[in-house]
Amino acid sequence: MFELTGVSKRYGDLTALARTDLIFESGRTTVLIGPSGSGKSTVLRLLVRLIPPDTGIVRFAGQILTDDNAGLLRRRMGFVVQEGGLFPHLSAQDNMALMARYLGWRKARISARISELAELTHFPIDALTRFPAQLSGGQRQRVSLMRALMLDPDVLLMDEPLGALDPMIRFELQDELKSIFRLLNKTVVIVTHDLSEAGFFADTILLMRDGQIVQQGMLAQLLQAPANEFVQKFIRAQRGSILPLDR
Ligand code: ADP
Repeated sequence: MFELTGVSKRYGDLTALARTDLIFESGRTTVLIGPSGSGKSTVLRLLVRLIPPDTGIVRFAGQILTDDNAGLLRRRMGFVVQEGGLFPHLSAQDNMALMARYLGWRKARISARISELAELTHFPIDALTRFPAQLSGGQRQRVSLMRALMLDPDVLLMDEPLGALDPMIRFELQDELKSIFRLLNKTVVIVTHDLSEAGFFADTILLMRDGQIVQQGMLAQLLQAPANEFVQKFIRAQRGSILPLDR
């Protein structure tokens, strides 16, 4: 679904992403993990072309992403930014409807889609008219997810979608998200700090450090055959958080 060929990104002297070749396969869930500043969000931003690469090309569904076609192609990508990125002055349903209205969808189509998504994400219908500040953290994340899914995109990209939630809500939403991914059969790319969360979601984990992918594989491969000392340290630093792969 996405293909990076020779892609790199620098900010002054800092290499946010070293020259990288990478494929994100259709219908699969890929998780980007690594310490803060390792380049995870940079990869996401390159995939949606919020930033252009310095070198190389990014393909989406076979097309090279450019400044000219990014606006149009982005409609096929659902993006959940860190902290959800909801507009505080718009109700949950107005946040969700924004892009559909811009594209000229009729009212009936918009409300049918909103109801469908509320059912999918177990969001209470009567809370759709509330503003983000009147929702719980878990509900806000559901709204961000619904907004990203509104146009039924081919891919879903999520930057630390559950980072700000307390452990129980997080656990519950992890389960729900995973069943939603299965049901919708989307290509999913998630950024997280948490290795057990990565293992729970991922078909493939990409472990990053200093703008490089240091290891790529399933959680079991990382645990059983860490590529180097950094991977070992990274795993050890997640002390106690490695859960069984299935639950
Ligand atoms: P991560 O998501 O893994 O925390 P990022 O991809 O956000 O890391 O950032 C990678 C590196 O690039 C970091 O060192 C960060 O400070 C730097 N960086 C990211 N965006 C910018 C920017 N707009 N200007 C300067 N440096 C940036």
